Amino acid sequence: MTKITKRKLYDITAPNRSTGIVNGKSSNVLNWDDVAYAWAYPTYKNMLANFWIPEEINMSHDIKQWQTLSEDEKFAFKRIIGLLAFLDSIQSDFSHQVAEYLTDSSLSALMTILAFQEVVHNQSYSYVLSSLVPKKEQEEIFEYWKHDEILRERNEFIAKGYEEFAQHKTSETFRNAIVYDVILEGLNFYSGFAFFYNMARNNKMKATSDMINYINRDEQIHVTLFAQIYKELLAERPELNTEEHRRWATETFREAAELEIKWSRYVIGDRFDDIDPQDLEDYIKFIANKRSKQLGLEKPFEGYDRNPLKWITIYENPNYGKQDFFEGKSRQYAKAFDNGFDEL
Ligand code: ZN
Ligand code: ZN
Repeated sequence: MTKITKRKLYDITAPNRSTGIVNGKSSNVLNWDDVAYAWAYPTYKNMLANFWIPEEINMSHDIKQWQTLSEDEKFAFKRIIGLLAFLDSIQSDFSHQVAEYLTDSSLSALMTILAFQEVVHNQSYSYVLSSLVPKKEQEEIFEYWKHDEILRERNEFIAKGYEEFAQHKTSETFRNAIVYDVILEGLNFYSGFAFFYNMARNNKMKATSDMINYINRDEQIHVTLFAQIYKELLAERPELNTEEHRRWATETFREAAELEIKWSRYVIGDRFDDIDPQDLEDYIKFIANKRSKQLGLEKPFEGYDRNPLKWITIYENPNYGKQDFFEGKSRQYAKAFDNGFDEL
């Protein structure tokens, strides 16, 4: 095990362009035109282009529609929001911890934006629930993760993985935590996303699913960012890229997918005519394969190379809903900038 140390606040003897992802040398000064990883600046621009805040989503139509939903729909809706609220909460803290140990100022800056976006995701769940249910019920939904057994089982799987890194900061726990991260951001959200997109497909709760789409769009960049860090880490420290680790990582994706399937049977199951439970399971396996591939790992599930939920691609598209959202917003920004910096 190689201990990793926190990035120094500043270091006169180190270059601005860092010498490594972890345990490298970095002055900690950030000059986007002089960074070690060519993909960092485009990632930064992408993250900024995605900027959104929940209040800009008009919930009035969803508020009216909520009363007309079936009990099954409300059950799935609330459980899934409860899950997402947990995941995004621990994700904010985890990414914050990762940021402290990256010895590259540009990657740590990206991680800070990522952490910020997780906070916005969390706010969005409060925003949606406060529009739809009484305050007491909202508080109960934020407690589901403590008491719901199936929710707990799947959350603990991730939380334990993160906890290893939180307690022991080593190259190995950092490497493994990235695998858990890609599971959290790239797999654990996906049956939830499928539920909301299916609602949208039936013209239900479209404001909420727009919001889910913005979250989905952010998460896609987060997964890409962590996958890049993982690859760079293994390239810089080939001793971390062992056969044993690779086998473990594929197996971990398999277990995570099994838990996701169990969860999807519980919250969605066969209760919705237009979500075939088998298709949803195959979709989860497909996503697990896709994420493993992004990390350069063996697939956990042989076959499952095609998305069985064809209809979902339109909703997962990062440009879905983007135009309306940004058109509505650009004027407000123009106005804010007009105020200038020297106006109090
Ligand atoms: Zn998130
Ligand atoms: Zn994320």
